[in-house]
Amino acid sequence: MSDNQFSTLGLKESVVKAISDLGFTKPSQIQEQSIPVTLSGADLIGQAQTGTGKTAAYSLPIITKMSDKKGIKALILAPTRELAVQVNDEIQRLSKYENLEVLSVYGGDSIDRQIKALRRGVDIVVGTPGRMLDLIKRKCLHLDSVEFLVLDEADEMLNMGFIDDIESILSHTPAERQTLLFSATMPDPIAKLAKRYMKPDAKLVSIKRSSLTVSKIEQSYFMINNKHRLEALCRLLDLDNPNSAIIFCKTKRGVDELVQELQSKGYMVEGMHGDMTQAHRLTTLNKFKEGTLSLLIATDVAARGIDVDGVTHVFNYDLPQDVESYVHRIGRTGRANREGTAYSLVTPKDFAMLKQIQNVTKSSITQKPVPTAEEIKNKKFKDMVSEVEEAIKAGELTKFIPSAMELAENHDPISIIAGLMKIKFDNESVFDYSANKLDAPKKEDVRLFFSVGKRDGLTPKVLINYIKDRTRVNASTIGQIDLMENFSFVSVDESISKKILDKCPGGKINKKKVNVEVANKRKR
Ligand code: ADP
Ligand code: MG
Repeated sequence: MSDNQFSTLGLKESVVKAISDLGFTKPSQIQEQSIPVTLSGADLIGQAQTGTGKTAAYSLPIITKMSDKKGIKALILAPTRELAVQVNDEIQRLSKYENLEVLSVYGGDSIDRQIKALRRGVDIVVGTPGRMLDLIKRKCLHLDSVEFLVLDEADEMLNMGFIDDIESILSHTPAERQTLLFSATMPDPIAKLAKRYMKPDAKLVSIKRSSLTVSKIEQSYFMINNKHRLEALCRLLDLDNPNSAIIFCKTKRGVDELVQELQSKGYMVEGMHGDMTQAHRLTTLNKFKEGTLSLLIATDVAARGIDVDGVTHVFNYDLPQDVESYVHRIGRTGRANREGTAYSLVTPKDFAMLKQIQNVTKSSITQKPVPTAEEIKNKKFKDMVSEVEEAIKAGELTKFIPSAMELAENHDPISIIAGLMKIKFDNESVFDYSANKLDAPKKEDVRLFFSVGKRDGLTPKVLINYIKDRTRVNASTIGQIDLMENFSFVSVDESISKKILDKCPGGKINKKKVNVEVANKRKR
């Protein structure tokens, strides 16, 4: 056991043994840095990316330090039912050599069963805030023996409006408890929450994004016209034929619509979002985990923190609204240092968001062309050839031989093989592509702000001449001009915007000094 690097952190031996059984040999950064803090008894704020092993980071020291008194000693709050179940399962695995009762409580499941289990005596409760509060109100959840309180995915719980529930639950726990807060991001409300409910000497362990394990994820984007979104997705699905992929949409409605569209084209997909029943979501998730469902379409919230091994692809059907979500999404693949692929569909409108994602994550997202129908067909043919070769190698063809001989009496072998391949090819759901190649989207114009306006005697002609004089660009690259009293806007082709921004400021038009900036979109 001494060769397991977890054994140097001060954890109980039984716990290190359970970790070894799971095949973990090396603590992740958040585990390495936060476990000693938690073991020291200090309150902790832990910030690290999704998929970095936060569950074990708090569970292991809790199991190690927990007293053997009766009653609930650890209370873990998680934003969704799926996460509560997942944390519950992980703790079961990590505590397998301990005699502990772990229970998950969440809405949508029979409260009576949860009450009965609580009556039998439980050491660790994992649950969603709403159901916990419900159980507290019914006087079935007694928190006066709580030694550890964990807020897992705290940012997401706040996003989902659980703040009042959380505060209320906190007020039912002993003040001398040890509080651990884990979050992928640290927005202001989290800092406030921590300040109010954690000891003043709480320690912060923050793992920088640069140490993200996204390096093993190959990230690409595809420039498309909005009207080609569905077709571009289908082409990518057909080309890569992913084993296990999550496709992200912005909204619940978007999920429903895409599920319908893909199903009607013959793809085996299912959706997951917050409006679906608990049972439905768990069934879908289980199918996805077991591999009987290979394409899952989800919203950010529904997929948040979901831990499924072996996700090969993440598709951003819609780009997310913020950078954090992007990192979360693509973190669903490439877990546990495996390789993964992340594809983003980007329209000219999304381009600014993409740039921001690239800047903040400092990761390289490569532009690729949407595969052509020809490329997809060739790839499929190639796959078919290797499949047949595999089948021949595997043998056990005896029972097909008589029919094969019958065919061979009347046809030449090449025609027979081609015929069989056609049947197979036609059977695979292949999108009816609109063209071999999807046309590329028009470059978006960049809107520039000029600090001169009508009041300065500005006319479109004066402005165009000014720009032409200083940059020698072709007037045809200058688009719409909007003249206001004090300033004006000029839309120009992206290719020349930098030149204009470089050369045009500093001059004068009718004695007024000219300043140029990229227009703030909302300024209009
Ligand atoms: P997070 O809460 O940070 O999103 P999880 O706790 O869900 O991450 O862990 C992600 C996955 O990594 C889980 O499958 C977990 O069992 C696994 N894992 C955790 N710690 C390690 C480790 N030290 N080595 C290998 N796998 C680990
Ligand atoms: Mg987690």
